[in-house]
Order: sequence, then C-alpha cells, then structure tokens
Amino acid sequence: MNDNQLLRYSRHILLPQVGYEGQEKLTQSHALIVGAGGLGAPAALYLAASGVGKLTICDFDNVDLTNLQRQIIHTTQSVGVNKALSAQQALYEINPEVEVQIIQQKSTETQFTELAKDADVVLDCSDNFATRYALNRVCLALKKPLVSGAAVRFEGQVTVFDFRHETSPCYHCLFPDEGEDQELRCADNGVFSPLVGMIGTTQAAETLKLMMNIGDSLQGRLLLLDALNMEWRAIKLTRDSSCLVCADKLT
Ligand SMILES: [Zn+2]
Repeated sequence: MNDNQLLRYSRHILLPQVGYEGQEKLTQSHALIVGAGGLGAPAALYLAASGVGKLTICDFDNVDLTNLQRQIIHTTQSVGVNKALSAQQALYEINPEVEVQIIQQKSTETQFTELAKDADVVLDCSDNFATRYALNRVCLALKKPLVSGAAVRFEGQVTVFDFRHETSPCYHCLFPDEGEDQELRCADNGVFSPLVGMIGTTQAAETLKLMMNIGDSLQGRLLLLDALNMEWRAIKLTRDSSCLVCADKLT
C-alpha cells in the first residue's frame, strides 16, 4: 500500500482485528454482486469504500424514478441508465482504486458460474427466486461463500451460506419451494427505504469479514429484521438432509 492508501484505510488499519494485513487481504479480494438495487447499492458502496480490490456488478435493469427512494447509489441524473453502469460511475467517484467490472446483460447460470469462479465472495442482492436458486446452485458447486439478503415491506433477512464448510445449509434447505407463488418483489410491493440499507450493509459487513477471515459469520444463522418494531431475531439454520439441491453434493 502506498501513503495515500495507508491514509485512506487508516481507520480500518487501526482496528486490531483488521490491521495492515486485513486491509491487504481486502485489496486483493474480489466480490461478485448480483443486483445493483436496494441491497446491492449499499453493499457495493461499502465494499468499494473499504477498498475491496475488485467488484463485479451484474444488473440488466435501468434506473427508474421509483428506485431512487431507496437505491442510494443511483442519482436523479442516472434515471434511464443501466444500473450496473450507474453504480460503476458512483463507485469510481468514491474510490478510484477499486476495479469495477460490470455486466449489463441478464446472466445465465453458466455465466454466473464463470463470474463466480473468479470471486472470493458472492452477494445475492437480487429480487427474484430464479436468481436466488441459480446463485445457490453455482456457489454450492464452486464451494464459494454466498451472502444472501432479502427485504420487502418492513421485513428483511440476511444470512451466509459458506459452502467452504461441508455442513453448510443451502438456500434451498431454507426455502425448498421453487417459490413462484410467494414471489414478493419490491417492484410490486412497498419497501421501507432504510430497511434495504440495513440488510445491504449487513451483507457488506459479512463479506468483509469473510474476506479477512475474522469474527463469526452468519453461517448457520438467519437474521430476521422487523424494522417496524425494530426487532432482530436470529434463527439457527441446519442442513436439510433431504434437500434436493445440496443433499448429495456435500458429504
Ligand atoms: Zn440444501
């Protein structure tokens, strides 16, 4: 790290759990962020500000006026612009030292696999079950940690599926249904603005910890947030031994 980097990251380096070594790990790490909306916006902002070396951001959608109430990486000027591109511009303003790769097309599961191969941590900041199930299968197959978040109305949830551990549950253990019927997207429902920030920044925090290998992750715990009454609850997650996705993949 040069003098400017030492200054930029000094408040991290001062943390004994991070230090010079932890910050170096961040600068050499790569996160794949799927979705640059409500969750992806704060997650990407914090990861870039923290000096994660490379971010890959996937979003095929364009910024819409209804997004601006909560997707804080996008500005009024970026309405109509692709979200990944708009996010990239914002991130370079905050930290030009971070490499931001963007994917502006809808990605297939094969493409997600190629992108995830290169990443240390994958963040599911998407808003639909098809993508959630696809990322779960991809990360399970590649044994990559998946930081999963969801938020709608006043309710949020966040967890880590760290597939480097053989005992890790998967997203499908938690939601065995394919879930089309229960699809609750912000696009069709209301969502309390700071809720997505709380869940998205929790995803960023878990990602940084995984990259530096510090503390206890949310592996095996699902955090549920009721923002209306401001209550967090933790539920213990275990693998479903009859899960159709992970039961025969892990031993
Ligand atoms: Zn499973």
